[in-house]
Amino acid sequence: MPLLDVDKDKCIGCGNCVDACPFGALSLVDDMVVVNDKCTGCGACLLACPMHALNLPRERPKATGESLSSYSGVWVWVEQFNGKTCDISLEMLGQGRKLADRRKTALTACVLGHKVEHIAKDAISFGADRVFWIDDESVAVYRTAPYASALIHLVREYKPEIFLLGASSRGRDLAGSIASILYTGLTADCTGLDIDSESGLLLQTRPAFGGNIMATIICPNHRPQMATVRHRVFEMPVADPRRQGQVIAVKAALSPEQITTKVVDFILEKDEVNLADARVIVSGGHGVGGPAGFETLHKLADVLGGAVGSSRSAVDAGWISYAHQVGQTGRTVRPDLYIACGISGQIQHLAGMKTSRVIVAINTNPDAPIFTVANYGIVGDLFQVVPALTEQFKKKLHK
Ligand code: FAD
Repeated sequence: MPLLDVDKDKCIGCGNCVDACPFGALSLVDDMVVVNDKCTGCGACLLACPMHALNLPRERPKATGESLSSYSGVWVWVEQFNGKTCDISLEMLGQGRKLADRRKTALTACVLGHKVEHIAKDAISFGADRVFWIDDESVAVYRTAPYASALIHLVREYKPEIFLLGASSRGRDLAGSIASILYTGLTADCTGLDIDSESGLLLQTRPAFGGNIMATIICPNHRPQMATVRHRVFEMPVADPRRQGQVIAVKAALSPEQITTKVVDFILEKDEVNLADARVIVSGGHGVGGPAGFETLHKLADVLGGAVGSSRSAVDAGWISYAHQVGQTGRTVRPDLYIACGISGQIQHLAGMKTSRVIVAINTNPDAPIFTVANYGIVGDLFQVVPALTEQFKKKLHK
């Protein structure tokens, strides 16, 4: 019974799907796609169709215990940009290694790009046992169709139990495309990943209901169990260049003619702030009182060689741009030092900064929740405390 629906009003008979089908399940008859019984519902054709004329029915049978047990191993997609491994993927490899050890299984990295053999080696030194390495011009820069098709093919063939991706813009796009075509569960923006000691299921924790609760989500009936995790949620692992692993070269799934999108150029946005890499962040909230108040914070940040962050409240008030926002709907940060000035410490803000190494909170209200996560708390007016700190740091650091 064919699994695929063809929308005859949309199909233009281009034949892209026929070429993309790995099972020979599609053919063209009178310039119209016809599906035969070989269709497995893999979805490779959906990505190749420029007209969105193909659909997979949403209702799929639940996996049985037996078919679930045929999936094993933890996979991580290793993202690269301009031939450089993205830090978020190294963090994922570190956590993936821990999960694989808990499941007593192997960690596999998926590396796609052009001239990226060094990234495959990096993945092994950061914890992977095996690397699927797709080195092809068609995957030199990220595009949804060639990346998703390649990974979907690999998942169908090798059946990983867990598949993790960084929650970067590319990772979010890719994870959603893969999960929807494989018809499996995906938990986005996790803040914690663990293995349930009894069931062996992946425990995927993330804020829910506007950040008011932390929900732990499982995916019991479908595989792979998929999750994305934001930058700096997990620690950067230490590389071990002596680690050995297997690198398996794999061909790209789509030929250049089957890819309907083209990257014309990259224009790098001149981000006014790089919170992700800042070792020191001086962050302001509603207590800063207005845009002028942030000048006081900038002075301290400059002396410490750090960046200025903010709560959502200050962003919503228009005092500072969104690029500075820390929290559930802003950036997740993990600096060595986070100085929270006039920030009450609501759960949505804490979700983005509570794993900072040292937290200093300055607040006039001694009962502000920020003090529950702070290593050092200063009860006082930020307009007195911050300039005093700036003066002292200036004296000590810039003698
Ligand atoms: P307030 O809660 O108003 O706190 C101001 C603090 O400043 C008070 O504690 C006060 O005592 C202190 N203060 C006042 N004057 C001074 C002074 N002179 N000196 C020292 N202290 C002073 N928030 C985020 O930050 N990031 C997010 O990503 C985020 N995402 C959200 C997502 C959702 C779905 C929702 C519902 C909310 C989200 N929020 C987020 C908003 C969050 O719930 C809070 O409203 C927000 O964090 C409060 O910001 P604040 O601490 O700056 O302001």
